[in-house]
Amino acid sequence: IGQPIGNLIRSPNFARYLHAADFGGTVGIPSPITENTLLEIRIVPYGEDLRLLLAQDVTQLRFMERVRTDFVANVSHELRTPLTVIRGYIESLVDHADQFSDAHARTFRRIEEQTLRMQTLIDDLLTLTRLETASHPIPRRPVDIPAMLHTVYMEALEQSIEDKPTLHLQIDTTEGLIGGEQELRSAFSNLVQNALKYCGHNDSVTLRWYRKGDRLCFEVSDTGPGIAPQYLPRLTERFYRVEAGRGPGGTGLGLAIVKHVMARHDAEFRIASEVGKGSTFTCCFGTHTVE
Ligand code: ADP
Repeated sequence: IGQPIGNLIRSPNFARYLHAADFGGTVGIPSPITENTLLEIRIVPYGEDLRLLLAQDVTQLRFMERVRTDFVANVSHELRTPLTVIRGYIESLVDHADQFSDAHARTFRRIEEQTLRMQTLIDDLLTLTRLETASHPIPRRPVDIPAMLHTVYMEALEQSIEDKPTLHLQIDTTEGLIGGEQELRSAFSNLVQNALKYCGHNDSVTLRWYRKGDRLCFEVSDTGPGIAPQYLPRLTERFYRVEAGRGPGGTGLGLAIVKHVMARHDAEFRIASEVGKGSTFTCCFGTHTVE
């Protein structure tokens, strides 16, 4: 009693949190008295000049989170090798399909499709766990976004898929970002691939890069089927798919990846959609990340 709390809890993170006096969030610190214990601290201002400090022991929670992430990463990694072998064999069977009956050839193609699907799923899971692991820092390099979007756009144009919508690219600013090129590219192309997947040849898809006040935004808007409002809040959950089993088969991980990449870049990710009218996915970056 009567001592400044900063003298008792000597963690630099806590000192920063206290000093910033912005108590909207929480701060994680090692326990000052018990080894290997993690605390999450929240300060709640109340009354005039009064502060309430809440400390929660989150050791077990963090441990479980790490076990889960490690488990998913290990399983995905272990599944990769056998799947590559299976894919190799099935590809050679498909290549020699003329030596088999039509029914067999069809079966081989189905196996190949499903093997490819599993491979995509595993790649997406590995991407997601990599993004979630705190030990994997965000690269901080200048990224030429207009050039990247041009490549993503060209790749989408060249993709041969049935029932393809018309694509447009609109670059309104030459500015780029500071961040992780690979991550940003994976997020942006996930949004573009979704638009291609869920729209038909009568639809149009526009990719746009523009400045809005002090922020830079990437937007993919389409005139596709749209998404009903009750599904919107859950879209970025991993494995969440609207009416799973119907329509083109995805992994349900795409938007979870986008959400993670945006969070790592302190960017805001918004989804607006109306059934029958189309959807707009927007990623807005603060100017501190601008080159
Ligand atoms: P998926 O691999 O299923 O595409 P995502 O996480 O990328 O997984 O997307 C989640 C769900 O959001 C999809 O299953 C789909 O129902 C819906 N969705 C995503 N993008 C669009 C879009 N452009 N138009 C309509 N629905 C979309």
